[in-house]
Amino acid sequence: MEINRTIETDVLVAGSGLAGIKAAKELAGQGHQVLLVTKMKVASGSSFYPLKASLGTQVTKDRADEQVFLEDIEELSRGMHRRDLAEAYVREIPERVEEYPEIGVDAKKLEGERKACFAPHARDIYLLADWEKIRRNVREIFGGYDNLRVMERTVVLTLLKDSDRIAGAVLLDADNELVLVRCKAAVLATGGFGSIYKHNLNPKDVDGSGHILALEAGARLVNMEFIQFIPGITSPKYKTLFGEHTLTYCRDIVDSDGESLLDPELPDGLSKRECLDIRSTHGPFTHSLDSKWFDIAMMKRIGDTGNEDGFRLLFDPALYDNGEEFYTVYLDWLKERGIDLALDEIRIAPFAHASNGGVFIDLDGRAGVPGLYSIGELSCNIEGANRLGGNSTGACMVFGKRAADHCGEYVRSTGFGRADAGMAEARLAGMFGEFDPHVSGEEAEAAAEHAREVTERIREILWYNANVVRSEEDLSAALSEIRKLGEGVRAGLLFSRPGFRKLAVRTRNFLKLSQILLLAMTERRESRGAHYREDFPHEDPAFGRRLFVSVSEDGSPDLEFRSE
Ligand SMILES: Cc1cc2nc3c(=O)[nH]c(=O)nc-3n(C[C@H](O)[C@H](O)[C@H](O)COP(=O)(O)OP(=O)(O)OC[C@H]3O[C@@H](n4cnc5c(N)ncnc54)[C@H](O)[C@@H]3O)c2cc1C
Repeated sequence: MEINRTIETDVLVAGSGLAGIKAAKELAGQGHQVLLVTKMKVASGSSFYPLKASLGTQVTKDRADEQVFLEDIEELSRGMHRRDLAEAYVREIPERVEEYPEIGVDAKKLEGERKACFAPHARDIYLLADWEKIRRNVREIFGGYDNLRVMERTVVLTLLKDSDRIAGAVLLDADNELVLVRCKAAVLATGGFGSIYKHNLNPKDVDGSGHILALEAGARLVNMEFIQFIPGITSPKYKTLFGEHTLTYCRDIVDSDGESLLDPELPDGLSKRECLDIRSTHGPFTHSLDSKWFDIAMMKRIGDTGNEDGFRLLFDPALYDNGEEFYTVYLDWLKERGIDLALDEIRIAPFAHASNGGVFIDLDGRAGVPGLYSIGELSCNIEGANRLGGNSTGACMVFGKRAADHCGEYVRSTGFGRADAGMAEARLAGMFGEFDPHVSGEEAEAAAEHAREVTERIREILWYNANVVRSEEDLSAALSEIRKLGEGVRAGLLFSRPGFRKLAVRTRNFLKLSQILLLAMTERRESRGAHYREDFPHEDPAFGRRLFVSVSEDGSPDLEFRSE
């Protein structure tokens, strides 16, 4: 394993979604040497996912709204959020939202006030759109800094520490070559992990690799069991965003025989109309509202039949008479994609959407290891068991700035630690096991084919067993199968071959992350927020604490409920 190239920089930023872009721009503006590394291209990740029209940011209305906004977040989080982070958000977002143009985003303030998804109170919403234009703007802005270097199609593989602090990292560049980075600090902004699910509404680069990077560097993860699932269109155009507000005009959701999915599931006293109307007010599933039966019905039926084609929605054509901007913008966007909700056969299913949990951070985005910062969706931020719409983009701005300010001070007062090729090679050997560059091409191809099958199987297992509806039996069966799958993977062999390195990394991450998710979901023996446990169908005050994940001495995940 040869590492022939070394880059020295003050700060390594991983990820170029909103959070990474904001932090890199701030740090470069302070005069630090910054290396921004991104798995795909500049302006990627969930922030700039091409299959969605726009993103909203929810902004505190005025001083009087600060307390109301905090209470909204608190109520929805079901006790699982951090109050200090939420306070920083509601206080600072009005100023941060004004800074969107500085990172190339023309955020348009919607006329009037709107209630964001799940929000009981209306406030200002800023709309972000036109990803290609933003990408051009970001390139131009970054190009103005001599001290900011960008590496696209490059993956951060692992972080290196000198005793207890960050001293470097190993990258896999666009040509599958290994690169050693010597740095004083690392800001991880690698997003969530939606693509570990077979059906998801994330781009492929949002795969949870940052969670493993941070965990293995000594950070802790929290709230990993709270993942948002959102109905997505499976047909006529797979993976298209579904506008839940249209359910006001939906009569029913039916199977391929035209039978209602809701009829057998709805409890006494809840009508189909009521369920659909409540469901029209929020995108992601929540156990906290009576609309939960809509998603539970879909997932139960999928579990029983293995049908992944989705279920048909019966729309009233009057939908197209609604002239509100909220409807016309979405319906026109669908039309551009050749979809008509009233004329076409529209089928939907639950898709993995956004992770509420992540790296445990403080107010400055610090992840518990000197020189390590985590921001954006990778961090466990102001969301809890549920997540208010429009706060994730805003949190990228608020905590991107906070982390950059703290990190800037930190690197100013810190020298470089020790990070060399020997340390990097030893670390890679520890991660992937014995390297084996001398095997035949045929053997390597077979190992690669097997690794691909393993990652696809993990994605399938998670979608079926770790979705909205969960049970101890399913989670435990999923965990056993994944542990077994891991035994046959020849990661060292794959990593020895440059062309299979990315596959080796992805397979290793999926094996580790899937087990962490399943363990966390198993430990939470209650239904709360973003999930429903068939065997524990109620929220239980005994589980009113957050679940932390760390790495134990033998490298296995250690889980503990704590009141932090
Ligand atoms: C369909 C959809 C709709 C949404 N709507 C809203 C909304 O209206 N309002 C709202 O507030 N939020 C919304 N969200 C959530 C919000 O978009 C995300 O939480 C937020 O944009 C995440 O930004 P980020 O910068 O943290 O990560 P991302 O934008 O996901 O960026 C992650 C970056 O990290 C890179 N990366 C990953 N791993 C590595 C690695 N190992 N090495 C190097 N680079 C790496 C990726 O290539 C990418 O550039 C939505 C999400 C989805 C999927």
